[in-house]
Amino acid sequence: MSLKQRDKKHLWHPLTQHKTHPDTIAITKAKGCILTDEDGNEYIDAIASWYTCMYGHCNPYITNRVSHQMQKLDQVVFSGFTHEPAVKLSEALIDILPKNQNKLFFSDNGSTSVEIGIKMALQYHFNAGEKRNTLIAFDNGFHGDTFGAMSVSGLSVYNGPFEDFFLDVKRIPTPNGDNHDAILKVLKDLVSHNKVAGFIYEPLVQGAAAMKMHNAEGLNLILKFCKANNIITVADEVMTGFGKTGRYFASDNIETKPDIICLSKALTAGLLPMAITSCSQDIYKAFYSDEISKGLFHGHTYSANPLACSAALAGIELLKSEEIQNNIRRIVNSHQTFGEHIKTHPKVDSIRQTGIIFALDLNIKIDRYGNLRDKLFQFFMKNGVCLRPLGNTIYILAPYTISDEELQKVYQVIEDALEII
Ligand SMILES: *Cc1c(COP(=O)(O)O)cnc(C)c1O
Repeated sequence: MSLKQRDKKHLWHPLTQHKTHPDTIAITKAKGCILTDEDGNEYIDAIASWYTCMYGHCNPYITNRVSHQMQKLDQVVFSGFTHEPAVKLSEALIDILPKNQNKLFFSDNGSTSVEIGIKMALQYHFNAGEKRNTLIAFDNGFHGDTFGAMSVSGLSVYNGPFEDFFLDVKRIPTPNGDNHDAILKVLKDLVSHNKVAGFIYEPLVQGAAAMKMHNAEGLNLILKFCKANNIITVADEVMTGFGKTGRYFASDNIETKPDIICLSKALTAGLLPMAITSCSQDIYKAFYSDEISKGLFHGHTYSANPLACSAALAGIELLKSEEIQNNIRRIVNSHQTFGEHIKTHPKVDSIRQTGIIFALDLNIKIDRYGNLRDKLFQFFMKNGVCLRPLGNTIYILAPYTISDEELQKVYQVIEDALEII
């Protein structure tokens, strides 16, 4: 029996209605940008396995480092203990993060990094003797699937059963260049009627909302307003972090820096699950006290796992390398050329790009989990390219190591797909 058939017996997949979508594709190996399935078919991983393996799959620079670390120290409790991979990673990461970031708190995935960011923001005020209970977030944001993260996510596709249990969250539109005064007015109103603890946002690009992009100056105005009102700003860079916007972090493109940053996905170069919530010295100071209860009493068993830390450290070294920085510039230019070419196609409504993230909207309506979306997905896979359309948006977020030939194939398959819909 094939893996695909055996899978059906005991496995329950994420974000899946198994009755309508019973089939999976069994991947047996991955190298560079290529995924290979159990029948030997090859696919270009044009979404970098959900924005994780940005330096290519099974990159020996990373796997060798992890394999070396594995022989030396596998795992140790991080409460009261420390180790070299965590210390080295902290030095390397603080060196590339926005200058106001100074402390790192570890967890296991993007959602938990957001939970921790929210807890830091709430307890920051609590420790100062002020109870603030409202959070602000963007319309259509996505921050993860645990309760706090679900609460701040505006993109509640199927969150119905849980909505009664959510945190108190108020939503604002994303800045588009024309609505900045209106947003500031909404914010003033929110602050006068609520005790606002924090503002959480995906800087510049909202991934799950189908790579929606917003205005950096408008975001800067919102962040300045927050700072002036002692509202803790939490940048969810789980998707945008580590080079995707062309800079190390999306926040590097915005003048006002966040108090807290959430990181995961590409953090470990696609090798192991890990997340980090970083914060400024000011945030940390609010927890530093003779009173034990003012500390952040949050912890995960595998916090700062040495193997994940060594993968992350190797990933940062690659990110900073001239080779990867050149690749990023090459992909940015290549996408621009493709964008110019495809934007006049009669079936294309609009295109957009931030760094190596490219998206195009089709001018037909497609449901997020509908049949037409599945038809497109199957067309891409049949033609050897792994792209997962989000509604009527087709986006590319490929590993930095993708070759020019592979990129051309991705573009060609997208262009061919426009003929079948
Ligand atoms: C993927 C994602 C998350 C959630 O991360 P998980 O590791 O899936 O829990 C949170 N925020 C953003 C912006 C993401 O893209």
